[in-house]
Amino acid sequence: MKIKRQKIAKKTLSFYKYNFNFREPFQILIDGTFCQVALKNKIQIKEQMPKYLMGEVQLCTTNCALKELESLGKELVGAKIILQRYQVRKCHHLKSPVPASECLLSMLETTNPHHYFVATQDFKLTTGLKKIPGVPLLYIILNTIVLDKPSQSSLDQVQAAQLGELVSPAQQQNLHTMKEEQGIIKNADRRGKKRKRKPHNPNPLSCLKKKKKKGPTPPLKKIEPGQKRSRSRHKKHKIQGESHVALP
Ligand SMILES: [Zn+2]
Repeated sequence: MKIKRQKIAKKTLSFYKYNFNFREPFQILIDGTFCQVALKNKIQIKEQMPKYLMGEVQLCTTNCALKELESLGKELVGAKIILQRYQVRKCHHLKSPVPASECLLSMLETTNPHHYFVATQDFKLTTGLKKIPGVPLLYIILNTIVLDKPSQSSLDQVQAAQLGELVSPAQQQNLHTMKEEQGIIKNADRRGKKRKRKPHNPNPLSCLKKKKKKGPTPPLKKIEPGQKRSRSRHKKHKIQGESHVALP
């Protein structure tokens, strides 16, 4: 069972590494609920986490998460002691702390630019986190840490990228230059072929054009009423001009 769990985790990890640029040391944002359950199940987070994720980790939390544990009373003192050992990452609520779930969500913004993993047992928080693409979730189930399978929003984003709907500007430039290069090569090939064919084609085409030009032009002038009027006007002007010249 352990080997299977590790295999699944490895697959999920490579998904995040390949599609969302996750790199070691993995940043694990932890809240009080995760610490509390880890403590209850005698899980040593600091020891277990790098083993499970098969890499170096950086355990961190926020001031809001610590404040929330403090406010919840003596029952959570143990969890607070654990959480205090982790790096405290700056959030936007230094003056007025907010609930941990709200704080951690804000840490991820809309795209998880700092590549945080989030370790929590808070169901409300995880449902919120699943809406942000590229957020690996860790929780404790049956005495073990589990890396959740990629959320639907993560899968959707990856699929969209593969279909070319979401392409970074750098990638777009590369594509354009590649297309241009291919286009130039193709055009050059076509030009070479056309030059060889040229002597056969032009003669019949030029003959056809000449015939068409002679045919349609006179009937068009007769049909259109506007042109008739203009013709007559021109004629009148010409006559007037002639008469002026004739008078003196
Ligand atoms: Zn905060």
